[in-house]
Amino acid sequence: MRTALITGAYRGIGFEVAKQLAARDWRVLLSARKRTAGEKAAKAIGGNTTFVEMDVTDPQSIAAAVRLVDSLDVLVNNAAIIPEGDEDVLQVTGDAVLQAFTTNALGAWRVAQAFYPLLAKSKAPRIINVSSGAGQLGDSGTWAPAYSISKTALNGVTAQLAAALRDKNVAVNSVCPGWVRTEMGGPDALRSVEEGADTIIWLATEAPQELTGKFLRDRKEIPW
Ligand code: NDP
Repeated sequence: MRTALITGAYRGIGFEVAKQLAARDWRVLLSARKRTAGEKAAKAIGGNTTFVEMDVTDPQSIAAAVRLVDSLDVLVNNAAIIPEGDEDVLQVTGDAVLQAFTTNALGAWRVAQAFYPLLAKSKAPRIINVSSGAGQLGDSGTWAPAYSISKTALNGVTAQLAAALRDKNVAVNSVCPGWVRTEMGGPDALRSVEEGADTIIWLATEAPQELTGKFLRDRKEIPW
């Protein structure tokens, strides 16, 4: 039985990924920083789904989560925020920028570092970083500069990990889910959570293990 850990997974795209992998008989470690919401979400999915408490911005919380896990094949770094006041590149505060980076880029990086020893024991280990087209350098938009640049940085984390771990058969990729109807995406977004989760599920379950170091949307490579 394959095991996946998904961060920030009590709602939105992360929850959908957890639900779909559980439906395929995966062992799912549904992670969230909110205990009550996380436990409720894991129970709602059922099957072989367990809650793992983890705040991706807190190294002690990450270390405590690692101690609860005994095997791991796929890590999905899904947790992210858009900080308050992230609207104008000329006005956004340094605090907001730091918050975005600490969760969206450094959080995923720290979680990957901490869970790597477990991933290294898997036959087909994978890290999937849920990024965003907002982080693309050629087509970023201006609506959330701190969030966008934190996703550019997350893509840098993907590229570094992929290059460093290529010889160890660990596949590391970034995914843009598209604009999805979640708390983050809002009700007017064009995609359902099922559509948003599609490339993540495909990477976890079907994509060739040699596919690494890429930025993907709709199962296809897109520019960084
Ligand atoms: P949601 O806001 O619904 O989900 C984000 C999740 O991350 C929440 O469960 C949130 O929980 C969690 N989270 C935030 N900070 C932390 C933390 N420090 N530790 C643990 N969990 C945390 O958004 P989506 O489901 O839409 O987003 C999922 C991913 O998809 C994100 O990486 C997002 O950037 C990406 N994405 C989404 C798009 C969209 O249109 N929806 C478009 C492009 C990319 P909490 O309540 O504790 O904050």
